Amino acid sequence: MKKRRIGLLGGTFDPIHLGHLLTADFVLKALDLEQIIFIPANHPPHKTNLQVTPAQDRYIMTILATTHNPRFRVSDMEIKREGLSYTIDTIKEFVKEYGEQVEFYFILGADAIADLEKWEKFEDLLKLCFFVAATRPGFMDKVLEAKKRFGNLGENKIIWLDTPELNISSTDIRERVKQNLPIKYIVPDVVENYIYKEGLYK
Ligand code: ATP
Ligand code: MG
Repeated sequence: MKKRRIGLLGGTFDPIHLGHLLTADFVLKALDLEQIIFIPANHPPHKTNLQVTPAQDRYIMTILATTHNPRFRVSDMEIKREGLSYTIDTIKEFVKEYGEQVEFYFILGADAIADLEKWEKFEDLLKLCFFVAATRPGFMDKVLEAKKRFGNLGENKIIWLDTPELNISSTDIRERVKQNLPIKYIVPDVVENYIYKEGLYK
């Protein structure tokens, strides 16, 4: 029997933008996934010294941006967990919750792939789920390198997908809001409205 396939997209989502949504939808269709679960991080380990917007605002924006799509879900697992968010803990929890009949596909964008070496216990992660490197051919080398480094496991569990790319980052959006530049068509309207209403990134 074919296993159920579920995509996971972890991020700070500070704020969520069309790059995240386009990638999620592209991977969903390309790999025939049942759904994508967006997982806002409580406190990203690699961003400890940066100021991050309260988890509740990032969580609400992620829900606002995804609620219209029946195949998109949002998990508060990392936000509810105490302390720093580690992907290994999250995936273990999902595997435990859904059991063996589900295959998980953890999606990584270009900057996350570039950071792979810094990931805690990546080899353990590869035993638990697939990793989808969703980027342009420019990042191919990084992906091949990672595949090779982890041998059979890497060969089988790391998937590279040539994904359409929007040159958008949350960092850029925060900077634009600060400088009173428009963010229309970069984030969904509902997220744009939420940012202004709550006075975020000023
Ligand atoms: P920041 O600028 O604060 O780092 P970000 O835009 O990179 O934010 P994150 O929340 O850090 O957003 O990213 C979550 C995931 O989405 C990561 O895997 C990242 O690589 C991916 N991602 C980010 N921006 C894009 C984009 N424009 N297209 C595709 N994937 C993206
Ligand atoms: Mg990033």
